[in-house]
This record gives sequence, C-alpha cells and structure tokens, in this order.
Amino acid sequence: MIRVAIVGYGNLGRGVEKAIKKNSDMSLIGIFTRRKPETVSSEGSPVFPMAELMNKKEDIDVCILCGGSATDLPEQTPKLTQWFNTVDSFDTHAKIPEHFLAVDKIAKEHQKTSIISVGWDPGLFSLNRLIAKSILPQGETLTFWGKGVSQGHSDALRRVSGVADAVQYTIPNDEIIERLKAGEKLELTARDKHVRECFVVLEEGADQEKIKNEIIEMPNYFSDYDTTVHFISQKTLESEHKQGMPHGGKVLRVGETSEGMKQVYDFSLDLQSNPEFTASVIVAYARACVRLADEKVYGAQTVFDVAPKYLTQLSDDVLRKDY
Ligand code: NDP
Repeated sequence: MIRVAIVGYGNLGRGVEKAIKKNSDMSLIGIFTRRKPETVSSEGSPVFPMAELMNKKEDIDVCILCGGSATDLPEQTPKLTQWFNTVDSFDTHAKIPEHFLAVDKIAKEHQKTSIISVGWDPGLFSLNRLIAKSILPQGETLTFWGKGVSQGHSDALRRVSGVADAVQYTIPNDEIIERLKAGEKLELTARDKHVRECFVVLEEGADQEKIKNEIIEMPNYFSDYDTTVHFISQKTLESEHKQGMPHGGKVLRVGETSEGMKQVYDFSLDLQSNPEFTASVIVAYARACVRLADEKVYGAQTVFDVAPKYLTQLSDDVLRKDY
C-alpha cells in the first residue's frame, strides 16, 4: 500500500481524496490543513492540523500538496520536501524553473523525491507538446484552453487584496483552431487565441476600480490577454459559476513529413471537473514518486523525467502484452 497524505484541502484536495478511493494500491493517512480541522468537512477522511504532519512522518510515503500556486506551493513544496516525498501541481509556467531549483536542492540534500508541476497543464499537455514536436520536427504547436474555469487564474484572483471570491473563464477562439487545422499559417499572439473573463466578489469597502486595474495588469496571468472583469454578488457566483468546474483544451501540432504531406496531432481533454481530473493525474504521479524514491532517484522531477510505466499498477509484462 502506498500511504498518502493530502496537504491543503481546497478543490484539488477534495479531488485527491476521491481519486485515492479509485486506486486500490493507495490508502489515505489523512488530510492536513492550516485551518482549524473542525471547520473543514471532508468526505469521511480524518482531518488534522498541519502541526500533526510531522508526528505522522513514519506513516506517510508521499505528501500530495494541494495548495495554490500563487503563494502556497512556492513555500510549502521546498519546506515539506525536507521530510517527505512530495508531488505538487505548481502551474505558474514562467516560474517552474525557479521552483524546480528550489525543490531540487532540498530534495537532494535530504534524499527525497519530489515531482513538481503535475496535472494537465502543466503536465499531460507538456508531455504532448514534447512528443508532437519530437515526432513532427517541422511544424507548429499551439495550445488552446477552455472554455472552462482555470483554477490557477481563479486562485490568483482570490489572492488580490479586497477580493472575497472569484472565478475565471478561459475561452478559446474556435475559428482560429479550424483555420490552423486546415493548414493556414497564422502569426498569433496570446491575445488572438483566448480571452479571459473574470467574475469577482468584492470584500466590503474594497476599491472596485483599483482592483480591476490590478487584475488586468497582473503579469503572468492577465496582462497578455484581453481580460474582462465583472463584479457580482457571492450568491450569483455560487449559483451561476461554481457548479461543476468544467474545463478542457487541446494541444495541436500541424506538421509536414514531406512536401505537402500534412499531419495533424490533436490531443484533447474534455473535463467535467478540472480539479477531479487534475487530482487523478497527480495521484498516478504520486505512485511514480514513491517508486522513484524506492529506487533512490532523489531530487526534483517533472513529467518529462518520469517513465510512463511508473504511473501504473500494471506489470511490465502486461504492458508489453496488452498496451
Ligand atoms: P483552492 O483555492 O481551492 O485551495 C488552495 C488552498 O487554499 C487549499 O489547499 C487550502 O489550504 C486553502 N483553502 C481552500 N478552501 C479554503 C477556504 N474555504 N478557506 C480558507 N482556505 C481555503 O485551490 P484549488 O484546489 O482549486 O487549486 C490548487 C492549485 O492547483 C491551483 O493554484 C493551481 O495552481 C493548481 N492546478 C494545477 C493544474 C495543472 O494542470 N497543473 C490544474 C488545476 C489546478 P488549507 O487546507 O491548508 O487551508
């Protein structure tokens, strides 16, 4: 049995709790939260305060870190990797190299394994961009997201001072996708491919105009897109924007293998629940993390470093025969 701890219990944490139940080789030791445990209601799993994590150190093979990328994971992943093998879903792409170095140093010093930036993007989409480009060296790769709620961007909105709650939709430009698949060569900026739409609930007395500008100008998240911000009530947010959390998207590479011989590599995801799917990816990589640690492959890893067979419970023999 792989013994797992969930650190942080938001959307992703709830998804991990569900995903562990679908994996017969895993058991959940507990959920660890910075909040008062009695204020956190799980789906039946024990909830402990963060301080309890160290006391359970000997019972835990891997910690799945479910904090937000904006402020939680840059602190939590390096810190907890001193004592635990860890997996996180850090998704601020531009800062992954920095995060990798911070975690790698600690992991190597303490002989731990940490797989960072796991999920679908970064994660499965990163792998597919790499595979598509390796197979079709001549061509162009584009990634489209949505329409859907981006948890990373919603999380970033909620961290803005004066924002009580928020949801962010990423909306792709379908017309551009069809033109690309037909082989048209287009010079596209981030702005041409998607728009971002934010629904924000303000704290009482917050300065609406100031917050709107802060959102629109936020680097890495919103400044490179056409972003609209709507201010709404908590009630509207709950009833119209918080049911489900569907998402999806595609990695598209259109290449040529000889003159005029067009090849389309199209990897798509259509997700009813972004956090539950992301959690399922992370849980498979948690299995890989424990196996790599058993093999003394210490340090930080990303999805590029993990061989696919480490993700599954199936034996090498079955993989060779049936897959
Ligand atoms: P949430 O905001 O729901 O949760 C983040 C943390 O906030 C939790 O771990 C929890 O920590 C705390 N929290 C949750 N609910 C509350 C609450 N009601 N009051 C106070 N604190 C709360 O974020 P998500 O779970 O939606 O997403 C986590 C991260 O996952 C995102 O930042 C994103 O970076 C990443 N992600 C990555 C993807 C990928 O493909 N790579 C895809 C989707 C998401 P605690 O319990 O300690 O209080």
